Amino acid sequence: MFDLGTSFLASVERDPGALAVVDGDVRLTYAQWLEKIAAVADGLGALGLRHGDHLVTVLQNRWEAATLHWACQFAGIVMTPVNWRATPDELDFVLENAGARALAFEPVAQASVSASALAQRLPRIGVGAPADAAFEALAAGAAVPAPRAGADDWSLMLYTSGTTAKPKGVPRRQRAERMGAVAHVAQNLYARGEVTLGVMPLYHTMGVRSLIAMSLIGGTFVCLPRFDVARALELIEKERITNLYLVPTLYHDLVHHARFAATDTASVRKLGFAGAPMTDGLLKTLTEAFHPELFVNHYGSSEIYTFTINQKAAEKPGSAGKAGLNQMIRVAKLGAASPTERAAPGEEGEIIALAASDEAFEGYWRRPDSNAKSLRDGWYFTGDTGYFDADGDLYVTGRVDDMIITGGENVSPVEIESCLSMHPAVAEVAVVGLPEPRWGKIVVAFVQRRGAVTPEELDAHCRASGLANFKRPRRYEFVAAIPKSPVGKLLRRQLVAGEYEPEQGGESAA
Ligand code: ATP
Repeated sequence: MFDLGTSFLASVERDPGALAVVDGDVRLTYAQWLEKIAAVADGLGALGLRHGDHLVTVLQNRWEAATLHWACQFAGIVMTPVNWRATPDELDFVLENAGARALAFEPVAQASVSASALAQRLPRIGVGAPADAAFEALAAGAAVPAPRAGADDWSLMLYTSGTTAKPKGVPRRQRAERMGAVAHVAQNLYARGEVTLGVMPLYHTMGVRSLIAMSLIGGTFVCLPRFDVARALELIEKERITNLYLVPTLYHDLVHHARFAATDTASVRKLGFAGAPMTDGLLKTLTEAFHPELFVNHYGSSEIYTFTINQKAAEKPGSAGKAGLNQMIRVAKLGAASPTERAAPGEEGEIIALAASDEAFEGYWRRPDSNAKSLRDGWYFTGDTGYFDADGDLYVTGRVDDMIITGGENVSPVEIESCLSMHPAVAEVAVVGLPEPRWGKIVVAFVQRRGAVTPEELDAHCRASGLANFKRPRRYEFVAAIPKSPVGKLLRRQLVAGEYEPEQGGESAA
């Protein structure tokens, strides 16, 4: 199998003059980008980084971050990107856990880097920031592009964002990254010359996947350093973006922006989302706004990458579809000791994936405790709940840990959120279980309103939509905003802990 560097070279040879990466005024063809990548790969070696070493990067989505990603693949260095908002403690955790051998950062991360004792002991590469080595100088060198890694070498180590616990490193080999990217190209019907908006962070699985998939198929990756909605709309129009691959929250912000209606979005033909379920309300709004040729619900994670794929998200809303190209996916009975205890069709259980897949990870970095819990008898236990319908299509209903048990009934928050999202006065909604003496837990909906609506009206909407009695929220709280992680995931834990801002002058009702 090709290593990633050779795969990139193949793209260069296929179409050297094609536009590969755009970042503001920087516009590089594949041939031009390869020169920079080769120079940086050599430069990393000159800084003392060896095959198998970890380079930690704290960068926004700029062309330099994408270049470092590819340079690492050429040199066999493990790209280990972290959130540029990382606090000094979070940065120290990763530097220590990964055993970092160098650090690349930009001005937004300067304060954290300066406060980290560990960072001071490592060779540092500054991207527009003062450091031991300037990225700009590394990229200006001359070098012969020669991939020095194999398909079995480590490629990348992402950290799961820690919405559930302390971040865990997910090391992945070049073969897993390549298989994941090839499947991504196939399943999202990416084609040569297409243009994607590179806004999902390059420290998150979705950002990395977009980058590799686009580079392997010969498309253009348009960097947007951070999610700025107005700028995203400008770029869609200016760069004639063809494919969007975002988390639902970013789609929400995009279509509800004041300038959306005046933006020419006709170039956008393919929509894909991942990272969280999309409410039926948002699916409908997007379908009407873009009339896309393809609308893909992509259910995946940093560990396995693609579990399932629904290429007709608009026609079968809520369904995550069927197993991806490289996957075998099952639903195990809730609390099953072994993967052989399978749930019946229609029965909710824990979603599991065969871990032998070429796309899969092989275990968390230095976390035997988590590995014993997640990898059992050759299967990866996702911690997600779901069920297969009569057509064999998967529905992801939430996290095992988010399941609300009320009066002995299991209730998944996602179904209730989807129902409430269809009400026109609901901007955003999150549902959790809160402790209550009689029922154990009661279903509580946190709603960010965009118009006047009362709890009674929302309850009537749930009844009219046919939501079962025991699933109907017993309480509504109106909030200023729903708490989210940096990539837009609901932070239900914060709502349970009471860490949210109530709506100004808002009413709540039991
Ligand atoms: P954490 O595991 O702590 O949430 P993370 O956000 O870094 O960390 P990811 O690997 O990005 O983790 O997210 C994977 C999880 O996101 C899945 O296990 C699932 O819960 C959810 N998810 C991803 N895609 C979808 C989807 N299309 N529909 C529903 N849920 C999804």
